[in-house]
Amino acid sequence: MLLEVEDLRVSYGAIEAVRGVSFSVDRHEIVTLVGANGAGKTSILRALSGLAELCGGSVRYSGQELRNVRPHDIVRRGISHVPEGRLAFLNLSVHENLLLGAYTRTDGEGVRESLEKVYALFPLLRERRRQVAGTLSGGEQQMLVLGRALMSDCKLLLLDEPSMGLAPILVQEVFDTIVSVRAMGTPVLLVEQNASMALSIADRGYVLETGRVTLSGKASDLAQMEEIRAAYLGE
Ligand code: ATP
Repeated sequence: MLLEVEDLRVSYGAIEAVRGVSFSVDRHEIVTLVGANGAGKTSILRALSGLAELCGGSVRYSGQELRNVRPHDIVRRGISHVPEGRLAFLNLSVHENLLLGAYTRTDGEGVRESLEKVYALFPLLRERRRQVAGTLSGGEQQMLVLGRALMSDCKLLLLDEPSMGLAPILVQEVFDTIVSVRAMGTPVLLVEQNASMALSIADRGYVLETGRVTLSGKASDLAQMEEIRAAYLGE
């Protein structure tokens, strides 16, 4: 497994947001963590990228423990985190936003190759490379922040609620993009409230409730389960 998380715990003072969660992501997989508001999904991603302190458990990535590794070193090792809310630099151009994603890199040739890959994946970003990010639509900004994350020579992409606040047609586009990211060789850990979309593109899934995993398995099996259909798919 590329990423192995065991008994992960995250607390904010007395609030136990993540209460012993275990999961894994293998190379070439899309794995989704689904669950309602407040289930602890964001806290898990923040712990993986070093932004929230682990109160317990372990995170092994490529066989190495990430606990106590600093956030910028985690980025250098190949984990990119796209937080909720599409945080593009709105006054900078598309091109400048993408180059900022490579700020930890010193290999100019590699950066140019990554840029070509991102533009191949998102032809629309190439067309708009001189446009300032603030003038892009919500869906285009989501593509931009995905592209920016891939510029860090990303070997594992952590994605927090990419569908949040997007019109349904754009949601489909963004999910198609995630499938393309994986097709280009980057595994994805996808956190979503939109369980039906997330399970439709994922290989495996974990259902979170108040900081614990309550169900896990093949995404296609989870999508068929009565309790998930009732609780998360509005059926
Ligand atoms: P959402 O979809 O709303 O982001 P989530 O599943 O990602 O939900 P988290 O954001 O990880 O859940 O929150 C889990 C719990 O931790 C919630 O009860 C939340 O109120 C609490 N929490 C999150 N961040 C903090 C913080 N900085 N300080 C205190 N409590 C927090």
